[in-house]
Amino acid sequence: MIRQYELIERIKAYDPDVDEDLINRAYVYAMKMHGAQTRASGDLYFSHPLEVAGIMTEMKMDQAAVCTALLHDTVEDTLATLDEIKRLFGDEICRLVDGVTKLSRIEFQSAQEKQAENFRKLVLAMSSDIRVLLVKLADRLHNMRTLHHIDKPEKRKRIALETIEIYAPLAERIGIHRIKEELEDIAFGELNPEARESILTRLNFLRAEGGEAVVESIIGELKKKIGEAGIKSDILGREKTRYSIWKKMQRKNIAFEQLSDIMAFRVIVADIQECYHALGVIHGLYPTVPGRFKDYISLPKSNGYRSLHTTVIGPENHRIEIQIRTPEMHEEAELGVAAHWSYKEGGGKTDGRQYRWLRELMDIVEHAQKPEEFLENTKLELYQDQVFCFTPNGDLIALPRGATPIDFAYAVHSTLGDKTVGAKVNGRIIPLNTQLVNGDQVEITTSKSQTPSPNWERFVVTGKAKARIRRFVRQQQHEEYMNLGKAMLQKVLKQEGYDYNEKNFTSDFCHGFKTNNVDELLVGIGSGHISSREVFYTLHPDHRPKEPPQTIQSMIETAEKKTHQKGKSAPMPIKGLIPGMALHFARCCHPLPGDRIVGIVMTGKGVTIHTIDCETLESFADTPERWLDIAWEEGEDSPESHVGRLIVTIANTPGSLGTLSTVIGKNGGNITNLKIVNRSLDFWDMMIDVYVRDSKHLSDIIASMRATPEITAVNRARSR
Ligand code: MN
Repeated sequence: MIRQYELIERIKAYDPDVDEDLINRAYVYAMKMHGAQTRASGDLYFSHPLEVAGIMTEMKMDQAAVCTALLHDTVEDTLATLDEIKRLFGDEICRLVDGVTKLSRIEFQSAQEKQAENFRKLVLAMSSDIRVLLVKLADRLHNMRTLHHIDKPEKRKRIALETIEIYAPLAERIGIHRIKEELEDIAFGELNPEARESILTRLNFLRAEGGEAVVESIIGELKKKIGEAGIKSDILGREKTRYSIWKKMQRKNIAFEQLSDIMAFRVIVADIQECYHALGVIHGLYPTVPGRFKDYISLPKSNGYRSLHTTVIGPENHRIEIQIRTPEMHEEAELGVAAHWSYKEGGGKTDGRQYRWLRELMDIVEHAQKPEEFLENTKLELYQDQVFCFTPNGDLIALPRGATPIDFAYAVHSTLGDKTVGAKVNGRIIPLNTQLVNGDQVEITTSKSQTPSPNWERFVVTGKAKARIRRFVRQQQHEEYMNLGKAMLQKVLKQEGYDYNEKNFTSDFCHGFKTNNVDELLVGIGSGHISSREVFYTLHPDHRPKEPPQTIQSMIETAEKKTHQKGKSAPMPIKGLIPGMALHFARCCHPLPGDRIVGIVMTGKGVTIHTIDCETLESFADTPERWLDIAWEEGEDSPESHVGRLIVTIANTPGSLGTLSTVIGKNGGNITNLKIVNRSLDFWDMMIDVYVRDSKHLSDIIASMRATPEITAVNRARSR
């Protein structure tokens, strides 16, 4: 176990200004909180956060990151609270500990490729600060180093799989090669011990064959030749990791036979110029293997990796891979992002090149944010436009930000969305319009009888959910019209003593009504565009009354003739009518613009318009097929006057009739007809027709009349 003073010494080596008191307090606090807890190995639990802190110092991380490593399991595994951590260690450390705690609560469960990528994104999305991710990687590294202490094989396998699928690629992505390789190698041993063993055996065989001596002589010769060109170099011969050999064997489907399959040489020289110079020397001495030269110095990898790569037929005819780099590039390759932490000489200013992958993702250009600013803020706000949620099985679903359980359900499966009645998030029932957050586990409750609600469209954000809900609503409307049309048609047929038989409605028959099939015909009837009676007459022409002519066309023609006779050709400002159909205003209720109205198709007379509350409508209750859903055109100012009919009761006193006509005249009304309906000793009941503009005009007149003492009662006529 690292001692308290050792930890401080390690940090001091790269940060002389470290707050020793802070580190000591975090050390003591974590030790106290974990107390007598032990690990699977039997060690004190505290040894784990301490080792993680040690790994952080190897990466030369700042004191906040080291403290976070010490404290990273206290909130999850001890009585410590975030509030306390904040009080004792400040905002920054509290935020970092919170980040690591949250990250540790999510568990990867699926081995699918796409799932793994989503999960890596989730981890990045949740690592609001890059130090959170680094602590998490160090945590995982130490857990992998001690993996063999865990008894349950399934648990070891799960952790190893998660490591190889998620954490090793993340370490690679931020360029921490050293951690990536170690994670992979341990996980590989757990997941495929036979493969690892066979590679080890082969490596040992090659070594025994004198491989080691060969490596030494290659290093010696390279060093000598490069030195002769006046370049000082360090040359390392390095066995490739078992996992990378394995992957290469899988990828190329080959067995490894040659030294070049297992060894790589690194030539480390002072600066970039010498990198190219050394490359020139090597290429001048040995034949190159075509297609193997890569210049990652002028074109770094997206994780910031820089080096020159080449393969040559080197000393003693061994095919060897050589990487040429500066010490700085070497450190970057091993430590990635961490290599650029702020304790480097010269204040750690970097040109930001190493963060290209981050920059690309964050689209810094768009946000006009400089790489330096990014480093200062240490923000890692990736995938901020997405949320990642889990199914109960542990599958990860990526959704746009603002997504709700309905979006989630549709993303899992269309039919799941359709049948959704409720949702549980992290075990709690929540409203369906709740916005999901990263890491939510969402359980959808369904019912067979449930159908998509049009209301959902107001809060869903995914295109899939929207399209599905809309389609359903349209389809439902269609079905309703169809059922209604069928009911109307059945009714007419029954009245006339026939049975409804769909076979009668051949496609030819349907074409006669400008529809393609029975369904469309029924929808036409249900939506009021086709008369069910007309369908009946077409089916049984002998039932059609002889006089007057009964086709819709002839109805229209008759009506048009009448209209022309009256000299009225201006179209009525009414919508919902069949074009060209003749119109009449009912004499019973005298509809006015502004009234709610319905049309009744009158045999041979076109359409008669009634107010919706007209008592006459009761007599059409049994023939719904004659009803037309119509309305006044809005904002249409009819130049014509309309007749409004009033039923008035006035006192039988001298001058009362004069008062009545004065009130109407003053309000711009014009009496066209007046009839005394009932006359008693004290009161007269009268029916008065008045020319008005619209229903509001008539209402104004009625209001004025009601304010007149002589007039006892006044109402609009609603019946014959
Ligand atoms: Mn831990």
